[in-house]
Amino acid sequence: TLLKQFLDGKVQYQHIFKQYQIIGYLGKGAFGKVFKCQNKSNGKVVACKSIKKCNQYHEKDFLNEIQSMQNLKHPNLVQLKEFYIEQKHFYILMEYVQGETFKNYIKVNFLDEKEKIIIVQQLLSLVNYFHSEGYIYRDFKPENILFIENNVNKLKLIDLGLTIKNDELFRNKYQLCGTPGYMAPEVFEKTYTYDFKSDIFSLGVVIYELFSGNYLMQGYDSKELLNVNKQFQFNEEIVQITKNQTIQKLLQGMLQEDPFKRINSKEALDIFKNMNSNSDEQLSTSTD
Ligand code: ATP
Repeated sequence: TLLKQFLDGKVQYQHIFKQYQIIGYLGKGAFGKVFKCQNKSNGKVVACKSIKKCNQYHEKDFLNEIQSMQNLKHPNLVQLKEFYIEQKHFYILMEYVQGETFKNYIKVNFLDEKEKIIIVQQLLSLVNYFHSEGYIYRDFKPENILFIENNVNKLKLIDLGLTIKNDELFRNKYQLCGTPGYMAPEVFEKTYTYDFKSDIFSLGVVIYELFSGNYLMQGYDSKELLNVNKQFQFNEEIVQITKNQTIQKLLQGMLQEDPFKRINSKEALDIFKNMNSNSDEQLSTSTD
């Protein structure tokens, strides 16, 4: 494979634009721009993330992102199609998701409880898959979640730029990463490394936002936000954003500041499954 050739130092630079033409602009992230591209020979449309080689993102990071995408396969995870390596850029070609990001989607759509629960179910299934495969996603936030054709049932997680295998973590000890407003408090502590439980916290913040329509952490700028994030403490008022007792229980377990008191992905799924076994009761309590 190209990846193996690349690792062996035998890779030839390729010219992605011989094969693909840019037909639209999709978005921008910290390191890359994402374009809508069309394959010149078969007309297929893909999303192409172009990343400029730089000190913050070099070969090691690219290989990590590609390998994570190759190893992880889940219906709610965007699929890798191809990748290209050029002199100054890396390109990741992936499944094109036509639809809104979670951030815009929940703003413009008045989702009912049933729809929100469908979203939670997909998120919990995803995080449980990552963790059972030994991967930590490290960047759960609304900007990294899209909905195909704006359908609640078709959630897709994008951007595996920070995804790491648990046993690789020792090489990246004390690396502060994530997004202000979504990071678990322990991530700021020098004595603690990033862990599966830190993903659970970030996802708890996302679920809070889904049910309340508000940010859990508030700050004027990212510096202040980071401080709020770092000093976050759970309190019982947080779960009052919903009457649904299962969601309350989930938030209570997921948003504990102490990672040892926080539930893991399996426990989160179990709480959720219990709701499904008496879902009628849950839904009626929450809508009265
Ligand atoms: P970050 O700053 O979060 O690390 P990044 O540079 O890794 O970002 P992405 O988050 O992957 O970039 O993508 C940036 C934007 O491009 C997304 O918010 C989304 O709007 C759009 N985008 C990314 N992947 C796709 C896709 N597969 N289909 C459609 N749009 C996409």
